[in-house]
Amino acid sequence: MSVSHFSPDQQDPLALRPEDCNRGHACQFCPQEDSCLLDKSHHEKRLLEQRLDGIGQIILVMANKGGVGKSTVTANLAAGLAQRGYRVGVADADIHGPNQSRFFNLVGQRVHLTPAGLGTRTCAHPALAHPIRVGSLAFLMDRDDTPIVWRDAYKHDFMHHLIGSFDWGELDVLLIDMPPGTGNELITLADLLEHQAVAALIATTPQEVALMDSLKAIRFCQERGLPLIGVVENMAGVTCPNCGEEFHLFPRAHLADALAQLEVNSIAQIPLSPQLALASDTGHPMLLEHPDSTEARAFAPAIDACIQHAHAASMEAAAQALEGVMDAAGAEFMAAMGTLPDTARDELTELLAREHDRLHKTPGQP
Ligand code: SF4
Repeated sequence: MSVSHFSPDQQDPLALRPEDCNRGHACQFCPQEDSCLLDKSHHEKRLLEQRLDGIGQIILVMANKGGVGKSTVTANLAAGLAQRGYRVGVADADIHGPNQSRFFNLVGQRVHLTPAGLGTRTCAHPALAHPIRVGSLAFLMDRDDTPIVWRDAYKHDFMHHLIGSFDWGELDVLLIDMPPGTGNELITLADLLEHQAVAALIATTPQEVALMDSLKAIRFCQERGLPLIGVVENMAGVTCPNCGEEFHLFPRAHLADALAQLEVNSIAQIPLSPQLALASDTGHPMLLEHPDSTEARAFAPAIDACIQHAHAASMEAAAQALEGVMDAAGAEFMAAMGTLPDTARDELTELLAREHDRLHKTPGQP
């Protein structure tokens, strides 16, 4: 029995049209979703690719345990990177506790749907050449104190919207404030970003229970082949307000041993500081308001490590692209070289060799 209703030269009226609408948001936000006959999965795929094309380095800020100050670390790293002239975005993926709006004094702000996507909210400051762009679920809620109770499928969708539907523009670095744990959200994002320049940074505190959880996050990265920039130790020491002497609430010897065993670097030790907590609560990042403070100086090595990683990753990608071009050109390239005068051929060979060496150079190497 045949069930074909259309001859091959007739157009199926139910067939999805292959062109794209070029809207910058997902179909779920679209007022035409019900009547649209375009291929929606094609649109979603293109949208994500287009967003990711505009982003240089993605850094997942992770902590397997809640309450270790991961969001504070994310906000201050963003401020520090922006202060050095980079175009920075902060994607708040912590859907059960989206706090980045508070850290950048954006509480109560809402986003509007435009053809370009969901507009990010921005944190501008005289010290910044480019304002920090922030995207968060908090901007989509009716109220900031509404609890989020979602099934996994919605969480999965939100991870797509966070990257694809927010209008990030061109960014050098996108920091993603991850929810605690190595669950569905992390796996979704790790899958989504598989072929991008993405790396992880772990925030932890020196307590034994936080350390145990951090080691799980480190193993997750190692098993997934996710480059690890290093570990930021939060609450790593206290300065006595009376005598000015520094002391540690929690011994860090075990943490140092565990990191050494896993060959992971501790890239910064941030003191437990009432000023840092107050700056976060009032939405004025310490690194912007008090760039010479002890707290700001403590973040500097972590910011250096992020820049160094991004630089090395982009050089590696450029070197691979150059090698790809040379391989693809192969015989044709060599034949074209053979037609050049000797001096021009020697100069071009030397230039290519220099470029190859430059791209393979380790950052910091003269
Ligand atoms: S439903 Fe999706 S594909 Fe169709 S117009 Fe809206 S955003 Fe574009």
